[in-house]
Amino acid sequence: MSSAPATSLQDIISHAKEYGFVFPSSEIYDGLQAVYDYGQNGVELKNSLKSAWWKAMTQLHDNIVGIDAAIFMHPLTWKASGHVDGFNDPMIDNKDSKKRYRADQLLEGKAEEYANAGRPEKASALLAEMGRLLGAENLDGVRELIIAEGIVCPVSKTANWTDVRQFNLMFSTQVGSVAEDASLIYLRPETAQGIFVNFLNVQKSGRMKVPFGIAQIGKAFRNEIVARQFTFRMREFEQMEMQFFVRPGSEMDWYESWKEQRLRFHKAIGLPAEKLQYHDHEKLAHYANAAVDIEFQFPFGFREIEGIHSRTDFDLKNHQELSKKKQQYFDPEVNQNYIPYVVETSVGADRLFLAVFCNAFTRESDGDKERVYLKFHPALAPVKAAVLPLVKKDGLAEKAQEIAKSLKSSFRTVYDDNAAIGKRYTRQDLIGTPFCIAVDYQTMEDDTVTIRHRDTTQQERVPVSQLKEKIGREVSLERILEAI
Ligand code: ATP
Repeated sequence: MSSAPATSLQDIISHAKEYGFVFPSSEIYDGLQAVYDYGQNGVELKNSLKSAWWKAMTQLHDNIVGIDAAIFMHPLTWKASGHVDGFNDPMIDNKDSKKRYRADQLLEGKAEEYANAGRPEKASALLAEMGRLLGAENLDGVRELIIAEGIVCPVSKTANWTDVRQFNLMFSTQVGSVAEDASLIYLRPETAQGIFVNFLNVQKSGRMKVPFGIAQIGKAFRNEIVARQFTFRMREFEQMEMQFFVRPGSEMDWYESWKEQRLRFHKAIGLPAEKLQYHDHEKLAHYANAAVDIEFQFPFGFREIEGIHSRTDFDLKNHQELSKKKQQYFDPEVNQNYIPYVVETSVGADRLFLAVFCNAFTRESDGDKERVYLKFHPALAPVKAAVLPLVKKDGLAEKAQEIAKSLKSSFRTVYDDNAAIGKRYTRQDLIGTPFCIAVDYQTMEDDTVTIRHRDTTQQERVPVSQLKEKIGREVSLERILEAI
């Protein structure tokens, strides 16, 4: 086998659609930009990822519990968190093509060009200047820098730019049925605030002692200016966030510890070490005193999949101020009241899905023959086993159905008797099924079957009585949890 051409994002998008993983939202109406639906296989993969994360947080740690907060929150939440005043991206339009861009991304793209051309010092200088201008809210300066760098619109090829304006990324709507009574409400742009406002509820009702964590999985919404790259940047997406409340002064130790633990998680679900890297933030968000991204090598380069942030007491302190409710914890060990500091781990379920999908997509060619399969960790695969009778007659179909039925309560198993067996193997390869169980004439004699392994295509003969245990062990999330 030799390796086939490099995988492009287009290969991923096409495969995801053709085999029931991801569809464009409301596609019959030509779709809705940056919104996607998960199909029959995609939802299984995504659920497994969420389950692995949830268990890694709440099952492996005695001091982490989960919650499920509402998407709508009191509007003051977003004032306290800084999102009303500061959750902006600088945007710029090209007057000729009418296309909208993020001003910072145009400049980052230019810096990447410099870096690729072997001029890293020029790249850093440009990024530093951009950071300085954005920090000083000097939007005219940002525009001048774009023009000075000779950046043109990729569509119109002109530098006929509008002014740079700040654009708030929060979606808003009204609550209440009568217009006059209505008040502005936001669709949460992150799940974290649902955790902060419940900090004392959980601490008191669960008698939690600092350090402890609260985990949550849920939808978040951002009106992204430029939404490209498939499920990497969506307007409606899912986050898996954990806020870890610690004694002030101990946050850097916890930050380092979570940084390592989270990298171990990504390796445990099957992402290879060489496709993962840390990226320290040069420009810290308003709430952070340390921040790092875990990046994955997508077909379009290394990009963030998870952020780990040391958020200080920024959120709880602001909630205390605006709500006038004390957000303090009494620490019996030091006999002190304090607002805990927070270390956050925040990963997007959809970005993680995309990383796992891109990594699994494998194309091998042998002469004119090409084999495409999805090399998922067996515990993540949408279908764990397929039972395939060699032929339908002579009782083989019934025997195969009986075997499939006996496995279904343990893991997701399908039965397929449609078309030649080679075709059926291919069908399972394309959705990443790790084990195909073939029922043949020998099965009728000695109650053994063959198991075909997806990655090697090797087959082994095993007694039917051993299937549940043998495959069950391989496809269990325990394997991921044990590797973290
Ligand atoms: P980016 O810089 O790529 O916009 P961010 O730094 O704003 O991301 P965070 O606010 O730290 O992202 O959010 C945490 C995680 O949520 C990200 O690491 C990512 O996995 C996910 N996420 C954020 N925005 C989106 C989006 N528009 N679509 C899909 N996932 C997202």
